[in-house]
Amino acid sequence: KTVAVTGGSGYIASWLVKSLLDRGYTVKASVRDINDPRKTQHLLALDGAEERLHLVKADLLEEGSYDTLVDGCDGVFHTASPFYYPITDPQAELIDPALKGTLNVLGSCAKTPSVKRVVLTSSLATVSFNGKPLTPEVVVDETWWSDPEFCRENQLWYVLSKTLAEDAAWEFAEEKGLDLISVNPALVIGPLLQPTLNTSSAAILNLINGAMTYPNITSAWVNVKDVADAHILAFENPSANGRYCVVESVAHRSEIVNILRELYPSFQLPEKCSDDKPFLPTYQVSNERAKNLGVNFIPLKESIKETVESLEEKSFFR
Ligand code: NDP
Repeated sequence: KTVAVTGGSGYIASWLVKSLLDRGYTVKASVRDINDPRKTQHLLALDGAEERLHLVKADLLEEGSYDTLVDGCDGVFHTASPFYYPITDPQAELIDPALKGTLNVLGSCAKTPSVKRVVLTSSLATVSFNGKPLTPEVVVDETWWSDPEFCRENQLWYVLSKTLAEDAAWEFAEEKGLDLISVNPALVIGPLLQPTLNTSSAAILNLINGAMTYPNITSAWVNVKDVADAHILAFENPSANGRYCVVESVAHRSEIVNILRELYPSFQLPEKCSDDKPFLPTYQVSNERAKNLGVNFIPLKESIKETVESLEEKSFFR
């Protein structure tokens, strides 16, 4: 079978391309700058790439840019979307590529009869940011939606970009009769295949690169290999449908520091929080649907270890 992956050189997409090649798929992956070796070399070096990986140039903001990519594909994984800080122009840098880009990709899929299913890389960001209290008893699940108004009020521009994009994707899919599934991962960590540092891996690197304090943030976490698996299971299982929260656990940054301290007693790690407010509480996120789909979650401690080893191997340590 032939499948397409948008934004193929990204952190999550690189693992998705690798896992797809390992499972025998022929993969067409889009890259913005096909002549940049930092975006292509790690993909071309994957097992099976020589025979079954095809790189295609495409940009989210160019109308029709993905027609060539999805042509002849049975499935499309739409992962491309900007995820970086800092941002100066949220509309141009985040919202347009996320929202218009998603409709652009889905537009190409809708006019390509070979495409049987589209798996969208959404985010837990589209689920839990709505002002509802997040406390240890609360269980967030796929019925939750983030609230664009809440995002605007709190200037959560990335969260807003993903929420608008997923919402528009469901509306478009309904209208055109496209078989759409969304995978909604938590903050993703685990080994890096690409040579550049991505935003979620930086959340761990920032704690081990000499920071004096850790931020007062509670996040949900998941391993990149499980995120890749979730995408493929969502594509392969005929009865898969709707949204899938892909989350292993929820932990405050202080807990991440404690795990790092346990794993690496010699590391210099931040001793205190960046503010003196009470720690933001943890909450629960249901991963029942993802488990039922067949995702076997790697425990957080193992994911942290894999992240640190990979960051060290790639010389990101100061
Ligand atoms: P990366 O920054 O590693 O990858 C982002 C990808 O998006 C890159 O391939 C990038 O292409 C592509 N992209 C950005 N802007 C454009 C554009 N205008 N046209 C074409 N491609 C573009 O991030 P991740 O792998 O972390 O993120 C991948 C997806 O997963 C995103 O949709 C993100 O929202 C989602 N996600 C990520 C989480 C995380 O913690 N990492 C958690 C939940 C969801 P290029 O290489 O050319 O720059």
